Amino acid sequence: DRIYNFSAGPSILPEEVLESVRDNLMNYEGSGMCVMEMSHRSKVFQKIIDEAEQDLRDLMNIPDNYKVLFIQGGATLQFAMIPMNLMKNGVACYVETGAWSKKAINEAKKYGDVHVVASSKDRNYAYVPDCSNLDIPDNADYVYICENETIHGVTWQKLPNTKGKILVSDQSSMFLSKPCNVSDYGMIYGGVQKNIGPAGMVICIVREDLIRDASELPVWVPTYCAYSTHANNGSMYNTPNCWSIYVCGQVFKYLKRIGGLEVMNQRNIDKAKVMYDFLDQSKMFNGTVDKEFRSLMNIPFVTESAELDAEVVAATKAAGFDNLKGHKSVGGLRASIYNAMPKEGVEALVRFLSEFEANYKK
Ligand code: PMP
Repeated sequence: DRIYNFSAGPSILPEEVLESVRDNLMNYEGSGMCVMEMSHRSKVFQKIIDEAEQDLRDLMNIPDNYKVLFIQGGATLQFAMIPMNLMKNGVACYVETGAWSKKAINEAKKYGDVHVVASSKDRNYAYVPDCSNLDIPDNADYVYICENETIHGVTWQKLPNTKGKILVSDQSSMFLSKPCNVSDYGMIYGGVQKNIGPAGMVICIVREDLIRDASELPVWVPTYCAYSTHANNGSMYNTPNCWSIYVCGQVFKYLKRIGGLEVMNQRNIDKAKVMYDFLDQSKMFNGTVDKEFRSLMNIPFVTESAELDAEVVAATKAAGFDNLKGHKSVGGLRASIYNAMPKEGVEALVRFLSEFEANYKK
């Protein structure tokens, strides 16, 4: 039987998508082969990638002057590709809100002058700092944020005032969880293995005028790492992750069927409320993030001790709730409740944790 999977990524996918993928596994739409076996240069695959892009454009209302790129190397490669491509003056501003923005900062430092213009490190990343009046140098090429910190469970409610500089956002763990006004950003990107599809790919949505030709970039930038390489070749300069593109495309169609991102957002709000209401009244479990900045996707929480945390993790696992152990850097527990997690899954977890608390004897 399938169980409730609270993994931070790779993570749960909609069952109806998995079923459709299964039904088409051996013979995709009469092609006589599986998508995994298909040439990326075939007409059948071209249709798959074209539809995936169009469906994503429809879902997010992506303006025509933005390119949609399917790239390998995960979100991690973007930590390097962003400075490689977008640093013209060699200067960028980063906001430090948790483990993933920190990784991006450390990588960007290899390529230029990085200003950490705000940080919430002082309270172990339990909030998003005030970014209404940042000290942004005139020659900064961009301002970078991680819009939902997967490990620390904090999310931005209001985008920073970038003082006219372009905003670059890592949306990996919140991609397609709610409507997004793409034109507020120069670039949005995210690894797909949380809200969208199988691991091994990142989707980059980049404003066209920010994409410099490979010939304008430093010679040491690998051909693969120039956005223009992907933009000029329909994301097929080399063999793409065909399987991931296919399954992501199926998820886009699913999201359109249920009514799009407004509907998904409402479901996510209702679902997260079940968990947060529980944490707010519990005497055993405590959320670690300031209320105002709580993520709808990743919910870290702790008990009074690491021993009890471990006991709870073991008990949940035995009861059919998997992957609730917090990330090793913060400990405790974490429930990742991405788009595909049904509300019933969160309700079942809350019932279990309530009973655990009620029956617990020191
Ligand atoms: N950014 C965020 C917010 C993430 O959660 C992750 C992965 N958990 C990454 C970047 C890195 O992604 P990948 O493993 O796809 O390189």
